[in-house]
Amino acid sequence: MQSIMTMGEILVEIMAEQKGQSFRAPGPLTGPYASGAPAIFIDQVARLGHPAAIIGCVGDDDFGWLNIDRLRRDGVDTSAIAVCKGAVTGSAFVTYRDSGERDFIFNITNSASAQLQPEQVNQAVLKDCAHFHVMGSSLFSFRIIDAMKKAIEIVKAQGGTVSFDPNVRKEMLRIPEMREALAYILEFTDIFLPSGHEVTQLARSADEAGAIAEIFTRGVREIVVKRGADGCSYFSADERIDLDALRVNVADPTGAGDCFGATFIACRRMGKTALQSLRYANAAGALAVSSKGPMEGTSGFAGLDALLAQQPQHLRHAVMEG
Ligand code: ATP
Ligand code: MG
Repeated sequence: MQSIMTMGEILVEIMAEQKGQSFRAPGPLTGPYASGAPAIFIDQVARLGHPAAIIGCVGDDDFGWLNIDRLRRDGVDTSAIAVCKGAVTGSAFVTYRDSGERDFIFNITNSASAQLQPEQVNQAVLKDCAHFHVMGSSLFSFRIIDAMKKAIEIVKAQGGTVSFDPNVRKEMLRIPEMREALAYILEFTDIFLPSGHEVTQLARSADEAGAIAEIFTRGVREIVVKRGADGCSYFSADERIDLDALRVNVADPTGAGDCFGATFIACRRMGKTALQSLRYANAAGALAVSSKGPMEGTSGFAGLDALLAQQPQHLRHAVMEG
């Protein structure tokens, strides 16, 4: 039992080439690129040399094989990816506003990703899983929510741990079952990895400090808040660390949170301290935004160490309490 595993959508992403471009008119596109939040996450885990596997579904088409080939090449165990004959691989088309904000057109709920079956989740598939990561974006059908609950229960029963990134996109919030499922999963979460605005979404408290205190009472042990270009923060019962973001040229923000979370989890599993893990995660997020393409910015320790060596440690604030 040693692997980090995740489950969910495996997609291709096709991107508008220019900022301000709209899908209401023809324009230049680039892609397909391997994508899907859980797929990016698990690719980053494997790039760090940690055993990694993903449960998911793709179609028997070039978009699906592009992903399987890419994940395999980077060291991910793809044996739990089902290739569905009767479905096409999911896709996401993205445009970038002048403000840098992104708009997505997803084909996920009608894609092979939606064919994920609870039967794909069982003790044999999860036998090596020491840590299971849940992406909130994956929870878009009752069947997938059931499969996710089953995975969490199996992993917890065998003594494993769970991390959770709510990763709520505004397009996804239109699905009413989402909020309920997110709250359920939080109950089983050891390490919670929200974006800044998500901290209060799953708590009663309207302010961050109150929400964090509340989430600790539900059994979560570590909370890592992602703040985009403003860096990140780490909270445990007795420690708080804030890091400024590293300075990089932003080519494409997609995938930063996934690379960040994967690096934090892999580093913690490898026995690194919270501060070391946060510094590596901060560097992984920075490298992710500096490459165009959602999975093109995943990196190994050599790349992370090189970036960290280039820039002084952006440690704003570290408090040890108690
Ligand atoms: P998403 O919107 O894709 O879900 P996210 O909210 O999960 O993203 P972000 O906060 O955007 O994740 O990014 C994760 C981490 O990556 C940040 O906490 C930071 O460490 C790093 N990062 C993000 N944007 C930048 C940036 N512009 N410059 C440097 N580092 C960045
Ligand atoms: Mg995210």
